[in-house]
This record gives sequence, C-alpha cells and structure tokens, in this order.
Amino acid sequence: MSKQKRFILQEQDLPTQWYNIQAEMPNKPLPPIHPATHEPLSAEDLAHIFSLECSRQELDTEHAWIDIPEQVLEMYKYYRSTPLVRAYALEEALGTPAHIYFKNESVNPLGSHKINSALAQCYYCKQEGVTNVTTETGAGQWGAALSYAAKVFGLECAVYQVKISMQQKPYRSLIMRTFGATVEGSPSMSTRAGKDIITRDPLYPGSLGTAISEAVELATTTPNCKYTLGSVLNHVSLHQSIIGLEAEKQMEMAGEYPDMVIACFGGGSNFGGIAFPFMRHNFTGEKNTEFIAAEPNSCPKLTRGRFEYDFGDEAGYTPLLPMYTLGHDFKPANIHAGGLRYHGAGMIVSQLIKDGYMKGVDIPQLETFEAGILFSRTEGIIPAPESCHAIAATIREAKKCKETGEEKVILFNLSGHGLIDMTAYDQYINGDLRNYDLTEEDLQNGLARVPKII
Ligand SMILES: *Cc1c(COP(=O)(O)O)cnc(C)c1O
Repeated sequence: MSKQKRFILQEQDLPTQWYNIQAEMPNKPLPPIHPATHEPLSAEDLAHIFSLECSRQELDTEHAWIDIPEQVLEMYKYYRSTPLVRAYALEEALGTPAHIYFKNESVNPLGSHKINSALAQCYYCKQEGVTNVTTETGAGQWGAALSYAAKVFGLECAVYQVKISMQQKPYRSLIMRTFGATVEGSPSMSTRAGKDIITRDPLYPGSLGTAISEAVELATTTPNCKYTLGSVLNHVSLHQSIIGLEAEKQMEMAGEYPDMVIACFGGGSNFGGIAFPFMRHNFTGEKNTEFIAAEPNSCPKLTRGRFEYDFGDEAGYTPLLPMYTLGHDFKPANIHAGGLRYHGAGMIVSQLIKDGYMKGVDIPQLETFEAGILFSRTEGIIPAPESCHAIAATIREAKKCKETGEEKVILFNLSGHGLIDMTAYDQYINGDLRNYDLTEEDLQNGLARVPKII
C-alpha cells in the first residue's frame, strides 16, 4: 500500500491574510527606542529607514490578521503552497516512533523562505513611490530574494554581502547580479561604516551586523531609497506567517497536530513563520505544543545571550531593540550557515523566550552537517547549512522518542536548499570542517559593549 507523503493546498485554500502574533501575545514586546532619547519610536520615525507600511506593521499590536495585498498574493501563487512532507524514510533510518513532517520552503526558484517577505517589502516600497531598495545579505538567500522581488516591482536594488560568505558562496552574488542587482562585499570602502571597520581590522571577514550598517547608511544618504531587512523584525515574521498558516491546514489534511515545532534560528523569521500560527493555540490554552529554535553553538544568542536593548547593527545606526543579544559588535566564527551568524534575536521571539513559550537549543557545526547528510540520503533533498540546524534538533528529539517510545508528532521547517552551498558539503565530507566553541571570555567581551538600559 502506498503511503501518502506530500500535502499540497489547492489555490482556493491558500491563506489570504498574514497572522500578526503581536496582537495576541500575553505580554507585548517592549518597543524599539531612540538611541539618544530612549523614547519609544513611532512608525513615522521608523519610516526614515523602512517603507511606511512595514513600519506600521512593525508596531502593530492590535490587528491579529492583516490582508495580503492582491499583487503579493498573485506572486505567492507562482510557488505556493509549498509542500508539507511526512519524512517516512528519515523516520525509518532513525528507527523512531516519532512522526516527522517538514514544510519545504526550498521549492521556489530562489531556494529559501526569504522570498515570502521580499515580495511584500518591495510591493509596499513601490506603492509608496520608492525607487531604490538596499539591504545586507549573509549567505546570499535574502539578497537573491530581494534582487528578484525588486525586479518584479520595478525597483533598483543594491546589496552588501558579508565578505566571507561572498567568498564561500560565489554563485549567490552571481544570482543577485543576474537579477540585475549591484552587489558589494562588506565591509566595503564605499561607506563610512565599512571604512571604519576596515581601518580597525583590515582582515575582518564581515558580519551581518556590519553589512546592515552599510546598507542603512546607503538608504539614509540616498534620496528615494529604503532599507529592507530579511529577518529579525516583526513585520518580516508577519510576512513569513504564510508558512505556518499553510502548514496548519496541511497538518489537518494529514490528520495530525504537531507536539513540537522546530526551525533554525538566525534572526527568527522562518522560526516565527512556521511557529507563530501554531503558538496562538497555546496562548488560549487549547494546545500545548513545544517550540524549539535551533541556533549554532558558535553564535548562541538564545541560549547564552542576554536580554538587553541593543543595536541591530555593528556601527549603531539602527534604533535600540529589546532582544537576546551577544553584543552588536560580536564577531561570529566563520561557520557555513551564514544566515545564522547574527548577534541578536527578534523582539517578539525574545519576549516569548522570557515568557517561557519557546526555547532555544544550540548545535555544533559538525552535528548539523551530519544531520544534513542523513536527510539528503533519506529524503533526497540537500538542505541549506542553516536548515541543517533544524534537522539536527529534530533528530535529537526523534532519538529521545526512540528511547521513551513516545509517538510524538514533530514538524520542522526546511528553510532552504543547499545546492549553492556544495563547497560546505565538500569540506564536511573531506573532514575539513570543524566545530567552534564560544569561550566564556569571548561571550563576555561581546556583552560588555551592550548599552546598559534595562
Ligand atoms: C536567512 C536564512 C535563515 C535564517 O534567518 P531567519 O530569519 O532566522 O529565518 C535560515 N535558513 C535559510 C535557508 C536562510 O536563508
């Protein structure tokens, strides 16, 4: 008998609204504040950097459901729904009684979940008469998604890519340039922030925090140019909620409800995307699902960071955000999961951790690749190094089920594929990759430069 493995929604069943968890959280996240005055920021303040609509969504703690604009919905239909898959082969290889499902966000031409928010952000910019967008990118998934979305809505796009990632994954800069974007390695000599850090540390391989400073500087010094962010902020998780809203309907088709939802964690957008629509049922007491965010043990803001107001970027151009942070000038190790090399966690997630609705786990690099290889060989999909963290966390939980005999239902998000990351797999297979442990001294060094506000 053939088992049904893959669940897809019909076009008429696609969600037409995003879910804004801020409206239903028992404790709202603290507001972003001005670095000098410490006053809470208004949407108009944020709109100096971001599109006005995204700025409003960022601070919207009232509306739980927000209509997806018609033109964004039309673009979603090119690749959504994405499949929900029961990973029978992985279950079998692990000998676990757990039921493992994954939501496959790798099956769009850009290869990751990032396009879900890129389309929305470019749409709002276009509506507001913006002509240019700029951003930072690590491994390049966000830059690639934004480059394409900018083309869709007729905007010019300039991307600062973390230098080390540009070297590790040269094809992603080529993808961005193919879509017509301008790409520069960060730190670059074209911004004040870039020059400053190159002067201090000529060999600095770059970080997301530095690249954000450069992009924000470009946006605030160029007329009609807005900055866009691919993670961390509330409005990005809002757009990503399409993942979990679809998954909820697809789990229903499968006749199950997850006991556990797992995603990898860079700034929190794919985690929030899959988790928040399920978490709303925990708020009402209807369900008691466990939520796990998997981060690299070399960049462990959720498990070892401190809850403070900190800058979102290295140079300190952004508002102060309340978040679990390792310090805004924390220098992460050169792991291949470039999308997870960020010093802070989003404001919503930080509040949810404080309130005990979710937890973080940190995983060493080699364990993530071991998990990625097993997943490739069982499910036939080579996962992004970032997504390997979610798979590794899932495997840990599935093994616990094997010991206890529990038939837990585990849902994880496959945030992207790894076909542009084959150098990383090559190095792993050749035994050339290693783990990076963050020493207590390095942790304290990063935290020492966090502004003392709380
Ligand atoms: C960017 C990225 C991540 C990390 O970002 P989040 O905002 O935490 O989701 C994870 N996986 C992939 C494939 C990415 O491109």
